[in-house]
Amino acid sequence: MSVFTDTAFDDHERVLFCSDAKTGLQAIIAIHSTALGPAAGGCRMWNYASDAEALHDVLRLSQGMSYKNAMAGLHFGGGKAVIMKTSDFNGSDALFERFGNFVDTLNGDYITAEDVGMTVQIMQTIARTTKHVTGLPTAGGKAGGDPSPKTAFGIFCGIEAAARFKLDRHDVSGLSVAVQGVGHVGYHLCKLLVEAGASLKVADIDDARVQRICDEFGATGVAPDEILYQSVDVLAPCALGAILNRTTIPKLQTAIIAGGANNQLETLEDGQRLADAGILYAPDYVINGGGIINVACEYDGDIGDEGVTQLVAEIGPRLTGIFEEAARKGEPTNVIADAQARQIIAAAD
Ligand code: NAD
Repeated sequence: MSVFTDTAFDDHERVLFCSDAKTGLQAIIAIHSTALGPAAGGCRMWNYASDAEALHDVLRLSQGMSYKNAMAGLHFGGGKAVIMKTSDFNGSDALFERFGNFVDTLNGDYITAEDVGMTVQIMQTIARTTKHVTGLPTAGGKAGGDPSPKTAFGIFCGIEAAARFKLDRHDVSGLSVAVQGVGHVGYHLCKLLVEAGASLKVADIDDARVQRICDEFGATGVAPDEILYQSVDVLAPCALGAILNRTTIPKLQTAIIAGGANNQLETLEDGQRLADAGILYAPDYVINGGGIINVACEYDGDIGDEGVTQLVAEIGPRLTGIFEEAARKGEPTNVIADAQARQIIAAAD
């Protein structure tokens, strides 16, 4: 395993390996860029096959956060953490407190929050040992708490924008949407879509989660290995990354891809593959920026929940701008978004 030769290494400013035998903590924190401000990004807890896989993931995810924060108009740079669920992982409070100690050694250069596998309760435990943590419960209309409802709302706004652009539709009423992964983000997205009159096909490796969506929202459950290939208007990936690649793209039967998962494209070229297939792709780090906008406002403490909703709604027009520029230049949407993000970061550097 090598940091500098990993294909996801992009001149990251800092990578911190966190190990504590007493609690069994094994984690990696990557700070990609602090050009725009402190590096903000969630912590993912996952069962990685190897250290190398965890490193690759955190390098990719932290770069994605730099781009995401830039495109969301935030004065935050990009960072991310991963906690490895090793074979003897016990998820004790002591482990999360120890993780908080490591976050604290970075003196606010990295601010953590929820990502896959984490909960508000775990964030509260981490907050015992560092103040550089968000996603904590709040009251009285303040920004904060689980960011996934705001992430879902941003994706919903993005789906509306994509449907207007690609399908000439005023709203999502009557659209068919396939949702891969109905955890925190997927659940809230399904709720918004059904309330707006869309029909749903859903899949998750956790059957109980699928059942809940079917019971509550009248969705149709689909096998996890079939969800990507449904004939639908919109495919919303809301599980893990790299699901859009040379193997899956030729089999897709959707007009639009607009979902919350980070790093949906396995490689940059997959954006071109989607464009060649006539599929409109909403760049993941633009459409799923609602959660980090919530996190940033919670950290700053100066904007309430309603103000956050207004900021998140801007994701729709932002995506429309990317779709239009991509169409004008004949380039894939991911290339346009990357160029815009890099320009914002370079201007601040
Ligand atoms: P989560 O852990 O609550 O939900 C993920 C769901 O995906 C789980 O239910 C899991 O069982 C399911 N899943 C995993 N592999 C699957 C597979 N192969 N097929 C079908 N389902 C599968 O996580 P979340 O917070 O909902 O995040 C979902 C995605 O959105 C992640 O990629 C995350 O990085 C991204 N994201 C989340 C937020 C947020 O606010 N939580 C913000 C931005 C981006």
